Amino acid sequence: MSIPISLESRSEPIEQPTHIPCVDPATREPLGEVRIDSPEDVDAVVARAKVAQKAWRETSFEERRKVMRKLLAYTVDDKDEICLTVQRDSGKTRENALMGEIWPTCEKFRWMIKNGEKLLRPERVSSGLLMHKKARLEYHPLGVVAAIIPWNYPFQNIVNPLIPALMSGNAIVLKPSEWVAWSSTKFIESLRAVIEEAGHNPDLVQAVQGYGPTGAALARSAVDTILFIGSVRNGRRVVEASAERVIPVVMELGGKDAFIVCDDADLEQAVHASLAGCYINCGQNCVASERILVYDAIYDTFEQRAAELVGKFRQGNSREGVVDVGAIVTPLQLEVIEKAVDGAVAQGARVVAGGKRTLADKGDYFEPTILADVTPDMDIAQEEVFGPVMLLMRVRDDAHAVEVANGVSYGLSSSVFSKDRARARKIASDLEAGMSAINEFAGITYMAQDLTFGGVKASGYGRMNGREGLRSMCNIKAVIDDRIPMNQANRVFPVADKDYGVFSGVIELIYGRGFAQRWRGFLRLLGRKR
Ligand code: NAD
Repeated sequence: MSIPISLESRSEPIEQPTHIPCVDPATREPLGEVRIDSPEDVDAVVARAKVAQKAWRETSFEERRKVMRKLLAYTVDDKDEICLTVQRDSGKTRENALMGEIWPTCEKFRWMIKNGEKLLRPERVSSGLLMHKKARLEYHPLGVVAAIIPWNYPFQNIVNPLIPALMSGNAIVLKPSEWVAWSSTKFIESLRAVIEEAGHNPDLVQAVQGYGPTGAALARSAVDTILFIGSVRNGRRVVEASAERVIPVVMELGGKDAFIVCDDADLEQAVHASLAGCYINCGQNCVASERILVYDAIYDTFEQRAAELVGKFRQGNSREGVVDVGAIVTPLQLEVIEKAVDGAVAQGARVVAGGKRTLADKGDYFEPTILADVTPDMDIAQEEVFGPVMLLMRVRDDAHAVEVANGVSYGLSSSVFSKDRARARKIASDLEAGMSAINEFAGITYMAQDLTFGGVKASGYGRMNGREGLRSMCNIKAVIDDRIPMNQANRVFPVADKDYGVFSGVIELIYGRGFAQRWRGFLRLLGRKR
């Protein structure tokens, strides 16, 4: 079953299909078809979400926590079924489904149940000079959140934006990737059933399915904010669409993370973390450790040890037995990875492990690969690969490491390994990235839900997760209220002759540079000086 997408424009179908054919990448077995939503369907879904949100925004935090607890219970109770569904649609390993989809989702539920209300309750702030007034920030839902999401974590990508959206009183409409339409349809049906059982309108959570045009229709619909997780190219299009209605967007885009291994790092710790950073989910992670920057003094030893361990990796369909790495989710991504690796070899990179497609008679697989002697001028050192490819790059010292690390258009995440904590912190603080992990691979930051998640430069803007991610789905309303009701007119008009002199006096009295200027301000305030 072929998928009607061209390589040049992966999000735009060649013809206008009515259904998405879904395929298991580990076996190429057809899974079924999912109906594509037209722009009219998308508008109708958003209209239903608006109705559901009107009632939901009136619910108490306790009621929202009750729904969160039920959704968490579904995730824990059905985890084996969820993992199997994810495996069939994405070809990932069973262990990665559990650790990458279920565990972070459960942790996000736990965090939100514990912290959601605290972070969304009205917050008293100083009223500054307005001593007769009280000031507070209120966190109101924006309305309907659109989440346009990629294929790398079919379950987690759905639930991750759903949790803050519901907790903050919003409804959510998701546009899952066409490559995981089969599993996402099942997950959204199950999540809606839980919401309905809890006594609420299931239209609080809906999905629209299709290719790029369905995502574009959602971005142009009457939604109130957009979270886009995907490529820079399509992110740019979503920003353009959002600009038409001037709605807020959070952009979570690609990355080319640097993973710096200083000469005093614990080598075994750094090698194992780099394997996690490069090969978890077969490298299809936005925060994959795409560039391993190793200091000259330990480069050869690092390369040798990484090659030894990668050489022992088992690859295949994890439903037939335990494997270390699985398939590539989309045949298109397989082509992207192959082209990037071939191009790097043509530009002088040395293949230390892997380097080509494998198990072609079974499914869509690419060998866990190590490329050594990669230099910053090679295309592969600049462009996101999003596959199981470790790039080894030599660096001389801390300054050189930072220069190479920052020398890309992306700035999502980063890692630094050194036994000298002050040195590691200094390097990390010099990196142009939204996240830095010291003596860890960057993906681990997801397990600390107080931390925000997001990037700088071409990796996007705005934040998911943590306080900022939750509040990004809110209208943060600034409210001034009575402390002591004055119940008398505060005259501004008509402007009086003396007003300018009086207020000049006030400004000099409060902000004046020294005693003399403040005293003059005081006299002007009293009208004794002009
Ligand atoms: P993609 O941009 O091809 O697709 C993402 C989503 O956008 C899909 O649902 C797709 O159908 C939709 N889409 C496509 N064209 C659109 C348009 N014109 N308007 C609106 N929506 C449109 O990305 P992908 O290949 O699914 O995912 C891989 C990319 O996602 C990588 O670059 C990866 O780094 C990035 N990613 C980022 C994060 C993060 O948090 N920063 C997380 C995961 C993946």
